[in-house]
Amino acid sequence: TTEDKKTLVQEFKLDPDSELRFEIESKNEKVYLVLKSGLAEVFGTELVKGKSYEFTSGAKVAVFTWQGCTLELKGKTDVHYVAKETPMIMYSNCHAALELMRISAEKDNVKGPVTMVVGPCDVGKSTLCRILLNYAVRMGRRPLFVDLDLGQGQISVPGTIGALLVERPASIDEGFSQEAPLVYHFGHKAPAANAALFSMIISQLATTVKERIEVNKKTKMSGVIINTCGWIKGLGYKHLLHTATAFEVDVILVLDQERLYNELVRDIPNFVKVVLLPKSGGVVERSKSARSEARDQRIREYFYGTLKNSLYPHSFDIKWSEIRVYKIGAPALPDSCLPLGMKAEDHLTKLVQLTPNAGLLHHLFAVSFSEKDDDEIINSHVAGFVCVTNVDTERQLITLLSPQPKPLPNNVLILSELQFMDSH
Ligand code: ADP
Repeated sequence: TTEDKKTLVQEFKLDPDSELRFEIESKNEKVYLVLKSGLAEVFGTELVKGKSYEFTSGAKVAVFTWQGCTLELKGKTDVHYVAKETPMIMYSNCHAALELMRISAEKDNVKGPVTMVVGPCDVGKSTLCRILLNYAVRMGRRPLFVDLDLGQGQISVPGTIGALLVERPASIDEGFSQEAPLVYHFGHKAPAANAALFSMIISQLATTVKERIEVNKKTKMSGVIINTCGWIKGLGYKHLLHTATAFEVDVILVLDQERLYNELVRDIPNFVKVVLLPKSGGVVERSKSARSEARDQRIREYFYGTLKNSLYPHSFDIKWSEIRVYKIGAPALPDSCLPLGMKAEDHLTKLVQLTPNAGLLHHLFAVSFSEKDDDEIINSHVAGFVCVTNVDTERQLITLLSPQPKPLPNNVLILSELQFMDSH
């Protein structure tokens, strides 16, 4: 009916310190947000008055205002409401405290604050990182963002960890701009799949981050914000301690979990500030299928870009003889078979060469920067990712989907457990 076709337009008047929250679940639904008057921000990025921002399926958004504002929503949301209770004051106080540390770092010409955000799944860790980074760049800072969230991270494709220099606020609908991120390949969507390797690449990333900070004065003063994954129990907790040591963190922000907070206060040296923060009532829990869809979407965007910024990947054949294909982690040997001095877990960080085969189909592969020996391949950051879209065993060719045209920057490819069905 014509009634259905008319786009729903709703206006919201927000008091100071409140936020409009909305979610879009239905596929193919588009919702437009316009700031009509006043000032407002989405996770720390200011809205431009009169500009229309587009949101699509999967969006879970909060539009916060410090001063009060009028907003317009055009289109059908699945949920929307105005919330007056938000933890934004506390988050902004954290930013203010970090800013004081940056000012004093500037005076003494030392490193600015290195902050790690921890907590269980779905408590708003990534969102808090985004808010703190946005507030920092809005003050003219140039912080580094480190993302250790393998499954739902914001840098490169899932199955990686990485670092990004943040030079401008995140785009409201597309997040932080991904210019030349530093990316390390892990190859699984959860750290437990290979804890030894995870620990190793965290140390490696930390070393590289510390080197980068030393050569960029502005970033050195601005500091680092580290996002972590929701694995906080048992071995996951050990990884948090390792991360804190490796990156030499100064501040740990714990979201929503008193137990984790107390454990960290007990185990972390006193010169590190550990702060407990509440989660926002607006944070939405994601189902297993929503997480898997988000991973898929992230990979699709890596190759094809977004609605607003399309990318045009290349597809080409490569002879098996032109590439060297590896996976990380050899099958375990019983202790009695190991060479003297080798530990059983060492096999987890061994490079194993593979003969190309039909099983590679749909898998992502990291393109290594390294051409040297085994250890260097595991420990070096990667140039990018390709996806195997066809394996021709007869002609001994594989077809690759790649952001860059042929030739590959290097012939060393490392297998990822993550797969992508290219439906274009
Ligand atoms: P975590 O990193 O802890 O897993 P996220 O920061 O990714 O959690 O948040 C989970 C989801 O909740 C995201 O989709 C995010 O956009 C949404 N979200 C966060 N804060 C709010 C809020 N105040 N209102 C509405 N949605 C929110």
